[in-house]
Amino acid sequence: MLSELHEELRRSVRDFVAKEVLPVADVLDREEKDIPDEIIKKMAELGYFGLVFPAEVGGVGLDYLALVLVSEELSRGWLSVGSVLTRNLITGILIQSHGTEEQKRRYLPGIASGEILTAAAFTEPDAGSDTAGMRARARRDGDRYLITGAKTWCTFANRAHLLTVLARTDPDPAKRHKGLSLFLIEKEPSDDFDPPRIAGEPIPTVGYHGMHCFTLGFQDCPVPAENVIGGVENRGFYQLMAAYESARIQTASRAVGVAQGALDLALKYAKERHQFGQPIGNFQVIRHKLADMATEVQAARQLTYYAAAMKDTGRRCDVEAGMAKLFAADMVERVASEALQIHGGYGYSKEYSIQRYWRDARLFRIFEGTSEIQREVIGKRLVEG
Ligand SMILES: Cc1cc2nc3c(=O)[nH]c(=O)nc-3n(C[C@H](O)[C@H](O)[C@H](O)COP(=O)(O)OP(=O)(O)OC[C@H]3O[C@@H](n4cnc5c(N)ncnc54)[C@H](O)[C@@H]3O)c2cc1C
Repeated sequence: MLSELHEELRRSVRDFVAKEVLPVADVLDREEKDIPDEIIKKMAELGYFGLVFPAEVGGVGLDYLALVLVSEELSRGWLSVGSVLTRNLITGILIQSHGTEEQKRRYLPGIASGEILTAAAFTEPDAGSDTAGMRARARRDGDRYLITGAKTWCTFANRAHLLTVLARTDPDPAKRHKGLSLFLIEKEPSDDFDPPRIAGEPIPTVGYHGMHCFTLGFQDCPVPAENVIGGVENRGFYQLMAAYESARIQTASRAVGVAQGALDLALKYAKERHQFGQPIGNFQVIRHKLADMATEVQAARQLTYYAAAMKDTGRRCDVEAGMAKLFAADMVERVASEALQIHGGYGYSKEYSIQRYWRDARLFRIFEGTSEIQREVIGKRLVEG
C-alpha cells in the first residue's frame, strides 16, 4: 500500500538508524545521557522535523503516512530518537493551525527545519489528565503577560529554544477549559534554565533516558502579549485538543516502532538460543508467542496507517487517532514483555537491549493521554456521536 516514495523514505530511515542510532542507543540509555546533538542535527538535515509542514514554510511537504513511517523506524531503533520529533510536531501544528501570521513567519520555518527545538509544558503537579484543571496563571501586564506556576513532566525542556505553555488567563477556576491560553516562551537551551524566571529540575525516570523530563517553576516569567497562540485569550484548550490528533497518530507509530524493535530482538534470539539441543524457536510455544506478537504489531500498524491516511484527507480523526494510540500503547507493553520473556534470564540483564525496549514500552499507556482517558474519549464519541 506504500508508494515508491514512501518505501524509499523508509529505507533511508532504516539506514540512518542502523548507522547512527543503534550503535549508541544502549550505552546512552544505560548512562542516561541525552541524545547527542549530532544525531539531532542529522535528523534535521534529513528533513525529519518538517515532514508534514508545507514547503512554503521550509517543510518537506509530505504527508502523515510519511511521518508515521519515519517515526516508526526511528523508534524501532530507540524510542527517544523517535520522540525528538513529537514536540516540534505539536507546537508546529498549533502555530500552523491557530497562530497569527507573525507567529507563523517567526517560528514555523525554524520548527520545520529543526533549528528551533520545542518543549510542551501542559501538565501540572495537580492536573494531568484533567487539562481543564490547570492552575498556572498568566497575568496581563501592559504589552506582556507574567506567568507564574508549576509545570511537570516537561520533556526536553532543557534543550528547547521554545516552550509551549498552557496557562490560565481567566482567573476564575470555574471557567475551567474556557479560561486557558497557550503561550510561546523563547529561551536559551540550558540545563540550568533561567531562574527565577524559569527554574527546572530533572525527574529521574525508569526509561526514555535520551529525553530528560523536568519539573518547571515559572515566577513572573515575562512573555510578550503577541506570543499568545492565535493572539486571542482563552482558546488554548480547544487549540490543544485539535493538535492532539496529530500527536496521537505520531505516538501510535512510535509504539509500533518500539514493538517491532522488541519483536526483531526476540526473533533473532529465538533462532540463536539453544536449549534441549535445538534453537528455542523450534518450540511451538515460542513460535506461537512470536506469531501473536507479529500479528499484534501489524494490527497496530494498520490502525496507525489508517488514522494517518484519514488525517491526510483533512477530515476529523480524533477517534481514529485515539484508537490507534490506545491499541498500540496496550500492544507494545504486551509485545515487549513477551520479547523479554523469550530472552529468559538474559532478558533481565542490562547487557541485553531488550530490557531497554521493555522499559520504554511501559510509557505509552501514560503519556499523550493515558489509556483510561483514551477509552473515555473514544467511548464518549461513540455514545454521544
Ligand atoms: C515520561 C513522561 C513524559 C511526559 N512528557 C510530557 C510533556 O512533554 N509535556 C507535558 O505537558 N506532559 C508530559 N507528560 C505528562 C503526561 O501527559 C501525564 O503524566 C498524563 O497526562 C497523566 O497525568 P498524571 O500523570 O497527572 O496522572 P493522573 O491524571 O493523576 O492519573 C492517574 C491515574 O488516574 C487515571 N484517571 C485520571 N482521570 C481519570 C478519569 N476521568 N477516568 C478514569 N481514569 C482516570 C489515569 O488514567 C491514571 O491511571 C509526560 C509524562 C511522562 C511519564
